[in-house]
Amino acid sequence: MSKLKSFAATLDSGHMYALSVCLIGMGLFSYTNRFEFLHYSTSSWVWVYAMTSACLVLNFFMIQLPPEGNEQSLDSSVYLACIFIFGPGFTLTVLLLNCLFFAVIDRGTRWWKHLTNFFIYSIMIIASAAVFQYLGGSPGALVNTQLFTYLIVLAVYFFMNTLLVVLYYYILYRATLYETVKDMIKDAMFVYLCTLVLSLVLTVLVYHNQILGLLLFMCLAVLLCQSFKKLFSMYRSIEERANTDQRTGLFNHSYFEEVLEQEIQKSRSSGTPLSLAMIDLDDFKKYNDHFGHLQGDKLISFVGELLKTESRKSGTIAARYGGEEFTLLMPGYDSLQARTCIDQLRKKLNNSRFDGVEIFPLGCLAFSAGIAASSSDIHDKSQLVDHADQALYYSKRQGKNTVHTYGEHSPLEQELDFSQDVRDIEQQLNLFMYKDMETFRHSKRVFRYAMDISEILDMDAISKRNFTLGALIHDIGKLEIPWSILNKTDKLAPEEWEMVKWHVTWGKKMALTNDKFKELAPYIELHHERYDGKGYPYGFKGEEIPRLCRMLTIIDSFDAMTTERPYQPTKSFEEAVIELRACAGSQFDPELTELFINYIESREPRPENEAM
Ligand code: GH3
Ligand code: MG
Ligand code: MG
Repeated sequence: MSKLKSFAATLDSGHMYALSVCLIGMGLFSYTNRFEFLHYSTSSWVWVYAMTSACLVLNFFMIQLPPEGNEQSLDSSVYLACIFIFGPGFTLTVLLLNCLFFAVIDRGTRWWKHLTNFFIYSIMIIASAAVFQYLGGSPGALVNTQLFTYLIVLAVYFFMNTLLVVLYYYILYRATLYETVKDMIKDAMFVYLCTLVLSLVLTVLVYHNQILGLLLFMCLAVLLCQSFKKLFSMYRSIEERANTDQRTGLFNHSYFEEVLEQEIQKSRSSGTPLSLAMIDLDDFKKYNDHFGHLQGDKLISFVGELLKTESRKSGTIAARYGGEEFTLLMPGYDSLQARTCIDQLRKKLNNSRFDGVEIFPLGCLAFSAGIAASSSDIHDKSQLVDHADQALYYSKRQGKNTVHTYGEHSPLEQELDFSQDVRDIEQQLNLFMYKDMETFRHSKRVFRYAMDISEILDMDAISKRNFTLGALIHDIGKLEIPWSILNKTDKLAPEEWEMVKWHVTWGKKMALTNDKFKELAPYIELHHERYDGKGYPYGFKGEEIPRLCRMLTIIDSFDAMTTERPYQPTKSFEEAVIELRACAGSQFDPELTELFINYIESREPRPENEAM
């Protein structure tokens, strides 16, 4: 008894599912087949062997479908044809022999998986045969007037297949239900249709021409499989060419962009780190000028080869970004690990021998690299590339042959850069002095709130810089709005309101014109998005809006509520806090709202909302 208990304790939900399927399948199999094979005549056995062989051959000659190359067997067409011609009992015998054969040759798969597979197929066959019988079908020739019945039988067969297999993967591998169903239907739709047509063709051929019909069918299926194989290998080679840089054999720029997008998504959903390294050969132009472009090409190929070998070893993805610039996408690497890895690569290149390297300033091959790690504040892939690029140019400025990680400037340098950036933005804001004084003051107050919040949230230097400067510049697009609309005290007309909404887009464009302020663009563009997705310009929802942009929305709104404006009601701090709470979850991120309210309420002495 205690042994049984400890055995039960080792069963997980996957095993339980498999056990249930097996028990149901076993019951249905015994009821339907009733071990009829014990009484088969010789001619029945001939057909059992013939149909089993057909299944085995079809399992060997599978159909490969681009783009993933997932292989699909057409053996289901044989099972369906067996149902149509011989009935369910016979079909189950064919299935039994087929599965026994696979259990013997495929020893790598666990026995209970073979068993589950057998019973999943048994249930599919029995369910389809029952529907066939219910709709008036009887084993024998193909009946012209019953085409609809055949279609329904096929639908049931694949419905059961999808249901049982999807549940199996869902329980065993915790795959998402929707994604698994979608993938399965998308991948197998074509094969489902092929299977239906082929099963009907096989029914006709076997019924009228017996073994010859079966042989003809097999020839057709094998030829079909070979054509698909050819098509697939052609697809693979074209795909490979399209994704490869011919000079270095590394991936090319467009493929890099594609993988970058995928890897960022993967890293976000799994929570694993992801780093990007941007690599640029040092003083390559000198080498080109000295030895000519052909020799320069050879050097690029050489470096490409080195990167390819090293990326294979380190499980990273190397691409030629362009010219003598390369990228290394590093899934699973945080910035520290990435830095160590790239530094080792740099030393390896320094120690590599290549003709003519003595003309380089260091007397050896060298590169500078920038590293950026993906984080929740990365808005899109170009931002990550931009960070790595900035870090790369920082490395160049440090005298080349170095690796720098984005955001790791010395504190003094950061302080100096930051003050300069604030001055630059303030200069632009000065234009508001005569156009809209209130926006000028508002921007400065929002900046102050943002400074306080950045302390509370204990932000790293880069996030602090971007968040606070983003707060300072967030309304810059309003410079484009006509004076009469900006200072209008009456209600805005719909078209005027539409124009006001454009300020986020105009502002973003203004920020993007200056490399230094590119990263502030999300704050400008997204500070009117709402947590419930009803904001503008995109209608992003919840976590789709970067966290600090959600924070800026709260600060911006709080200041707008508490600002004195002629002819408009002003809220006291207490009233504004009530309003924030009322809109938490709809307009604002509830967690950040509470954080902001705590900050406002804890400020001592509470400052009046005086003009600055
Ligand atoms: P730095 O250390 O600042 O990177 O200096 P650099 O000389 O490497 O950089 P720069 O970007 O000024 O020059 C890169 C040169 O690379 C310019 C271009 O002629 C050369 N180049 C780009 N692609 C190829 C290529 O495919 N083959 C060859 N031979 N040269 C290339
Ligand atoms: Mg370059
Ligand atoms: Mg260079």
